Amino acid sequence: MKKNIDNYDFTGKKVIIRVDFNVPLNDQFEITDDTRIRAAIPTIKKVLDEGGAVILMSHLGRPKEGPENKFSLKHLVPNLSEKLGIEVQFADDCIGKQATEKAAALKPGQVLLLENLRFYKEETKGDEAFAKKLGDLADVYMNDAFGTAHRAHASTAIIARFFPNDKMFGYIMGNELASINKVLSEGKKPIIAILGGAKVSGKIEIINNLLNKVDHLLIGGGMMFTFIKALGGKVGNSLVEDDLIETAKKAMAKADELGVVMHIPTDAVIADKFDNNANRKFCKSHEIPDGWMGLDIGPETGQAFKDVIENSSTILWNGPMGVFEMDNFASGTCEVAHAIANATSKGAFSLIGGGDSVAAINKYDLADKVSHVSTGGGAMLEYIEGKTLPGVAAIEE
Ligand code: AMP
Repeated sequence: MKKNIDNYDFTGKKVIIRVDFNVPLNDQFEITDDTRIRAAIPTIKKVLDEGGAVILMSHLGRPKEGPENKFSLKHLVPNLSEKLGIEVQFADDCIGKQATEKAAALKPGQVLLLENLRFYKEETKGDEAFAKKLGDLADVYMNDAFGTAHRAHASTAIIARFFPNDKMFGYIMGNELASINKVLSEGKKPIIAILGGAKVSGKIEIINNLLNKVDHLLIGGGMMFTFIKALGGKVGNSLVEDDLIETAKKAMAKADELGVVMHIPTDAVIADKFDNNANRKFCKSHEIPDGWMGLDIGPETGQAFKDVIENSSTILWNGPMGVFEMDNFASGTCEVAHAIANATSKGAFSLIGGGDSVAAINKYDLADKVSHVSTGGGAMLEYIEGKTLPGVAAIEE
């Protein structure tokens, strides 16, 4: 059997874990949102409870030229110590003499946090010698940073080479991958995907890959207008990508061929300017007058989407249905979020991924009423596109 966090014997081992501690700090270097630290605790505790010692490595922010106080991981030590209930040690350089000595002296049950990996440009370059120096600190490599899994950095992918038999995912990575696979390869039918957000560009690979997996594809957000125009509709001043009209036509033809039902909104909430206080009205989505723009799906579409969502068994949602940051154009997104929560309560598996749909699900306080909320925006999207993530491949190969 393949080694994993649950079957590996960590007794007496030093485990270097790539975590995502890229947390926001205020002017006083206090953490303003420690979700990412909280999320990593079960993985760390598992190793400690099983008799291992833990070395943590992460990036924080985007330092340009070497060390900078505002990007130092030392600011995280008090928070992390409190959560783990032990005094976390700190090495003020992620490689070199101090890190080596502190790592060597670590006893089972102890934790050492290394300084920001991105103080070295070798990290993002995927430098092998740098990766080896990190690897030399430990006996086991674990990757629990899903948010950077789509990058072939030294600490997220290259380092795995030095642990051919002792590498594995932590719980965050494991859960993220299991959730996505539950949709993409093990989904129970009917499987649906709801896509929204501003633009078709950047989502076209996702659409193409999803067409091979789902029974229904629901399109909302600004991207719907490129599809509506492709169908011959009049979209007024709505967001349209004229250069993607052919692409939209091809996607719709492919859907037809594969028997995937594509749901393009039939009505919209339109506004006379891009402003929460703009004049608003409902309108057929293919008859939008000049000078007006569609900023949300309309009530008829909302009801139709709700019916599809509540009758499905597997749901993937990425991207808001309208400009949900403005309350007057948030109804469609709110309705979809609630329909997903309802479907989940009736037994559907639901995965919410991508920055803005995660923000929406949190805005409506529904995060604990869906099956999984992904933490890795870019990584998640690349995975849905069908790409191989270097951080995943490095562990699996
Ligand atoms: P994305 O990053 O592509 O997922 O896009 C998310 C953004 O799309 C959000 O900030 C929404 O406000 C925006 N958006 C959604 N619907 C529309 C629309 N109809 N017109 C313009 N922007 C939209």
